[in-house]
Amino acid sequence: MSDDKAFSGKLTAWHRRHGRHDLPWQGTNDPYRIWLSEIMLQQTQVAAVIPYYRRFLEHYPTLTELAAAPVEEVMGLWSGLGYYARARNLHRCAQVVMDRHAGAFPQNPDVIAQLPGIGRSTANAIAAFCFGARAAILDGNVKRVLCRTHGIEGYPGVPAVEKILWSLAESLLPRRDSATYIQALMDLGATVCTRGKPRCLAEEKNCPVVDQCVARKQGRIAELPVARPRKILPQRETRVLLLLDGDKVLLERRPPSGIWGGLLSLPELPVGADPLAYAARTLGCEVTRFMTLPPLHHSFTHFHLTLLPLSGAAKLLPHTAEAAGHCWLGSVEIGAAALPAPIRKILSAAFQAGSAR
Ligand code: SF4
Repeated sequence: MSDDKAFSGKLTAWHRRHGRHDLPWQGTNDPYRIWLSEIMLQQTQVAAVIPYYRRFLEHYPTLTELAAAPVEEVMGLWSGLGYYARARNLHRCAQVVMDRHAGAFPQNPDVIAQLPGIGRSTANAIAAFCFGARAAILDGNVKRVLCRTHGIEGYPGVPAVEKILWSLAESLLPRRDSATYIQALMDLGATVCTRGKPRCLAEEKNCPVVDQCVARKQGRIAELPVARPRKILPQRETRVLLLLDGDKVLLERRPPSGIWGGLLSLPELPVGADPLAYAARTLGCEVTRFMTLPPLHHSFTHFHLTLLPLSGAAKLLPHTAEAAGHCWLGSVEIGAAALPAPIRKILSAAFQAGSAR
């Protein structure tokens, strides 16, 4: 027997005894029910899905009723399940099936994959479970199992690695009863070959492919699948002025959009500007010298920012109005003002140390 055949045979046999057989969407080949469960199960645990699945079926027992419902009502029923684009697509998909397929789910996986919100793996699962198609699936659980059993290198989210996984998943499909085999793979990933601490030799459910598993043989279970590479974020730095007049500090309002949009912040010194001249000409303040305060690092989702504060005792120059968008606030007012957290940190440290005096 080839290794591939042995692999699928062991999984199918394991599934008979240890697979999940009593989930609410099992024991049916109704495409509406299978599709609904497949969409709800994307990125979501079975236990969280079950009450939503039941509630949806109570409200919309058939695809026709779902398609006819107002989208706001569908979104409301979905509320709490997360990833709301799924609910919108679910509703659109029901309408497309009604309009273009006369209310009957198409059977060909390639045609199913054209419907809103349905990717290749979900389309194949629907075709396999409802219409007996011999089609491979590659959801998160299956990717994890295959990366471990076959020692697949590289992050599975990268197209080149995904391509290898699809071709492996297809080559492993048995000729007969492939629906049970793919269900077994999904169940193994969900209940035994879990992300952290897989239960390879758990007495009650011993992994059926433990002898073939490359990750286990090589002691690399924790390394496979390879984790998403950490993005290297750009570094930026900016000088900010902490101008104090007595117990008041000069703040400027940020533009409404962009980083810290609309919040009050410390005036930012343009690149290359001389702080004394900038304070006098732009902010209308006389400052005799600036002191450098410790830098403060802050990370946004798309870059790291280093704030370089310069503090100085300021006197508002005579006959100078406050520059537009600027205001002097005392420590009590600052407590209630909308400030970015890193700016508030700089101010607290400066007030505590009396560094500007
Ligand atoms: S032996 Fe362990 S790591 Fe390998 S497939 Fe089985 S459960 Fe997963």
